Amino acid sequence: MDETTRNTGAEGLLEILRCGLERYAERQTAIRLGDRSRYVGLSDIARMLDCPRAALAAKLCTTERGNTAEALKRQLLLQRGHWFETGVHQALMGYGLSPLSQLEIGIRHGNIPIKAHLDFTLVTDQPHPSVRILEVKSTAKLPTTLSESCAMQISGQTALLKAYWNHPVFNIIQETGEVLCHRTFPEICRELLGVSLSDDASACDVQGWVLCLSMHDAKAFGPFFPENTDVARCLDMASEFWETVNALRENRLNLNAVQTAQGLAPLCPSCFWKEDCPHFKGSLHPEWEDTVAQLMELKAQKKSLDEAIGELEVRLKAAYQLSHTVRGEWINTGNHTFRVIPQNGRVTLDRKRLAKELDTLLGEQNAQTLMARCEKQGEPFERLYAIRM
Ligand code: SF4
Repeated sequence: MDETTRNTGAEGLLEILRCGLERYAERQTAIRLGDRSRYVGLSDIARMLDCPRAALAAKLCTTERGNTAEALKRQLLLQRGHWFETGVHQALMGYGLSPLSQLEIGIRHGNIPIKAHLDFTLVTDQPHPSVRILEVKSTAKLPTTLSESCAMQISGQTALLKAYWNHPVFNIIQETGEVLCHRTFPEICRELLGVSLSDDASACDVQGWVLCLSMHDAKAFGPFFPENTDVARCLDMASEFWETVNALRENRLNLNAVQTAQGLAPLCPSCFWKEDCPHFKGSLHPEWEDTVAQLMELKAQKKSLDEAIGELEVRLKAAYQLSHTVRGEWINTGNHTFRVIPQNGRVTLDRKRLAKELDTLLGEQNAQTLMARCEKQGEPFERLYAIRM
């Protein structure tokens, strides 16, 4: 088989994968979320916190833009989230729990339809009535802190569940395919789980949690407790979102007049609407194209080199542990030699803890003054930020 035939075959296979994933995603979205253009989702308004322009563009465009390679990457990113969700469902079931999956809360605020979809809801009445909402997020790298949009989404879900507890606004698709609509939360729990909950939400311990999953690790963030202020915030943001969507649909507003993300937004490199985004409006200098392209290529090579180095180090460390070599002894491979020795962990200062300890010792004002006196600002520096359009 010649090179050209092989390449055509490989491209064809990737095209089948992209096309299949897109079709499957479309079907699944229609089943799970219905017609997304007809309501404001809690995830829509959470996205507004990352970038209002991208959140609104995503709501207005049913078909996503981008070339084939980009579209495949995008699909894999989206589907990875769903695959993780299936894995988490299996883990919860494996532990003997029976979570409600994709519980929908559908409410109206004035004439604005709002929906929240809860990934998993765990309910028990033993030893005391408790509800745990679990939102699953797939991330390339685990975050140290939860983003504002994720926190807003889980806080909103938790607050709405409690606020509308005894209203017939809960819907769910059962595993049999049958849809239970317009139930109160205690009714859904009684019918599907055989759990009796009080009609009074305050008698139940409600918490929200976010579970972030990367390809190698997991991290949980929470608990988030229901707050009335979060309900008000969700409703206000939903009103603003819906008004802006309608203004865009009726051409009373141009998408490029909508506020974009501020500063160096992490979403921009993979954003579908970056091409004509005013965030990147600037002067034209085609003479620098080759240099920037070269820089991007080198950065990509560096990243893949770092990954390859990390992988080989893991393999050699494992080989050393399995080799029954005395700890610290060298292993000679011919032209090279290696060993694995334990190292002390890096010493770091826990600023939060120090601030708390000083607070107790000196009082809030003195503690803050002392902390400020000991802080040092590094020299200002310039950062180069380049993305592929
Ligand atoms: S490119 Fe960045 S600023 Fe522009 S719409 Fe996308 S996320 Fe927002």
